[in-house]
Amino acid sequence: MKTETLCVDCKERLASLEEKKLIGHEDRQLLENPERVIQAELPLRRDDGTLEILTAFRIQHSTKRGPAKGGIRFHQEVDPAEVAALAFVMSLKTALLDLPYGGGKGGVQFNPKEYSTAEIEQVSRLYMRAFADVLGPHKDVPAPDVNTTPEIIGWMRDEYAHITGKDEPAIITGKPVEKGGSEGRGTATAMGAYFILKERFAAQAPQEVSVAIQGFGNAGSILAELLYNDGFKVVAVSDSRGAIYNEEGLDIHAVAKHKPERNPISKFDGGSPISNAALLALEVDLLVPAALGDAITTENVTDVKASVIIEVANGPITTGAEHILDDRGVEIIPDLLANAGGVTVSYFEWFQNIHNERWTEEEVNQKLQGMIADSYHRTKQISQEHEVSLRDAAYKIAIDRIGMPKHS
Ligand code: GLU
Repeated sequence: MKTETLCVDCKERLASLEEKKLIGHEDRQLLENPERVIQAELPLRRDDGTLEILTAFRIQHSTKRGPAKGGIRFHQEVDPAEVAALAFVMSLKTALLDLPYGGGKGGVQFNPKEYSTAEIEQVSRLYMRAFADVLGPHKDVPAPDVNTTPEIIGWMRDEYAHITGKDEPAIITGKPVEKGGSEGRGTATAMGAYFILKERFAAQAPQEVSVAIQGFGNAGSILAELLYNDGFKVVAVSDSRGAIYNEEGLDIHAVAKHKPERNPISKFDGGSPISNAALLALEVDLLVPAALGDAITTENVTDVKASVIIEVANGPITTGAEHILDDRGVEIIPDLLANAGGVTVSYFEWFQNIHNERWTEEEVNQKLQGMIADSYHRTKQISQEHEVSLRDAAYKIAIDRIGMPKHS
């Protein structure tokens, strides 16, 4: 695989940061390409007896600050360029939060919604078998990402123990609590975003802040509830099939009771159904893309009317769309900060595993709040000092920390 073709966006981003004199030329050279790209073919025996070969990846972008760290996604659109881009963002995310990690990402190219639980378990175990050599608590520590649940992570932990004969819970994070996971990991991504929003909107009454949330999965649904409980006016939420809108604010507890994981959200009767495109175009104070990447592109960016966007998903705004939003003065709270709650609590989980400790949910959330709020304020400060976007500021802080190799 030619690494030059991986992560075109990363290269463009680094070039632009160098041009703005926010980073040095060697920083750019060091981060342009991932350190290691591994591909494997997983032989899955389907329930009907047929054989299917699934393509899988693990990309270690950087291990300069510690073991590679980052999730594994199960999705039909997984490809090496996307995994490399996500691994790059993980290197920056861990550095921005000052965690003792580098960055990595993995994925299997298939749609788990079309497979049985037994087949998904097999894919999880095959993944571990294929990559066990390059993983390890001090080498590369995977975690959940799109469509990988704590149950899947639990199977991977078991499989690693089975292969190596050593039971090391710190090999993977995002485990179920009863299998060595941490309290608060399941809600961590949403919590991180919520703590940032509390700082960002501290001067405003929550009732005066209208919010639209795209995506009602783990992060989107928990964030919707946290904001609703605080009195924010959540006017729209969506799933992949459609959205629901109520100008006066939705009753998010009622939406959650409607069981959106089984019933389309657009069938909820406490609001009017609208399209996903219409949700992104709502006149709201805060827009939360919390689904997949590339939600806001040059095609639909002119419709976006929100004044603040928080990227709870990874990469929901394309670079082209971002330029247009920046020119219009829209404030974007970037993914590497906005969704860093997940990897921060993953770090707490890994730390507890290694030191044989157990922290309460309160301890976890308190530590998370402190670290996330500090990173947010530091990012804001650098953005003001250098008169650049929050994203450029976050990249600068992270890249300065990754630093240059020392000559001996
Ligand atoms: N997949 C999550 C992310 O993109 C979590 C990674 C982790 O916990 O290591 O940040």
